[in-house]
Amino acid sequence: MAGQIHILWAGTAPSAHVDALNVAGSVAEARELLDAMRLSNEIDFDAAVIDVEQLSEGAFTLLRHLRARTSRRYMPIFFWSSGGATDERVKAFAAGADDWVHGSIDAQELLARLMRGLGLRLRIDGLLDETERLYELSLTDGLTQVANHRHFQERLRDEFRRAQRYDDPLALVLLDLDHFKDVNDKHGHVAGDQVLRDVASAIKKSVRETDFVARYGGEEFAVVLPKTQLAGALTVAERVWADVAKLPLGGANGASFHVTASLGLAGYPSRSVASAEQLVRCADEALYRAKREGRNKIAIYQASSFAEAV
Ligand code: GH3
Ligand code: MG
Ligand code: MG
Repeated sequence: MAGQIHILWAGTAPSAHVDALNVAGSVAEARELLDAMRLSNEIDFDAAVIDVEQLSEGAFTLLRHLRARTSRRYMPIFFWSSGGATDERVKAFAAGADDWVHGSIDAQELLARLMRGLGLRLRIDGLLDETERLYELSLTDGLTQVANHRHFQERLRDEFRRAQRYDDPLALVLLDLDHFKDVNDKHGHVAGDQVLRDVASAIKKSVRETDFVARYGGEEFAVVLPKTQLAGALTVAERVWADVAKLPLGGANGASFHVTASLGLAGYPSRSVASAEQLVRCADEALYRAKREGRNKIAIYQASSFAEAV
């Protein structure tokens, strides 16, 4: 919990309790429901104590309001009462209260319970941060830091569904480095890995933020271009093709060299493309055509024949 801890006390707080809580953070008091709601719109509270005797049904309104407004992943909210029959307490817990504290509770114990709730938030934050980090890792290619094959498949399927639904064009570029085996053979695998990293970042720089770059496999990359006609995709492919060829690369022995790439392009809508898988197949066919015709070129898939661009 970085910075000051803000605690809302809705109702009338005994001064001993306010003093104890003020050691850990700062207590803002609100006597009435509307004051408490207004305060919670201004301050992103870390925890709250709601006097259910004073606020009555308003305690439940405030509880829902705080849960909806908070930016925290977990916010301890305590109900406070000098009485409370079992069914009232059950109702409070069912509504989402984290604890029911009796009005006679010692100030230090109240502080300890609140701190335990805030400690729980730290653990929840840590677990959720770690889950997000692992999720990102599961979608990222470890070598090049662009999206991996699995992420590519998911994203392409999503983009294809969107394109079908909204009648938007969608283009796919597949890029395969030419004679990459020779690069490894001549300059070593470590230099080869660095080439793949450099090529990945060159491709990223050559496309728009909204385009999606992935490592399709070994020395193959894919670019998904949402809302892009084939003509626009060709412009992007030409830029990528030229930028990759321009990359200054170096081997372990100080040798400098360049690589070239072959690119295959396919677009939706097309009479050959009724699914994301077919779009990949068409771009792949175009790529193989570029390879067959001598490499270092771009080929566009067309339903009945191919058109060469470079
Ligand atoms: P082509 O022009 O027909 O594409 O020839 P190529 O040599 O690029 O194709 P081929 O499929 O024969 O070889 C691919 C090479 O890519 C062989 C493999 O060692 C290399 N490669 C694949 N993944 C990696 C990697 O992660 N790091 C390195 N350094 N090399 C890789
Ligand atoms: Mg290949
Ligand atoms: Mg290759």
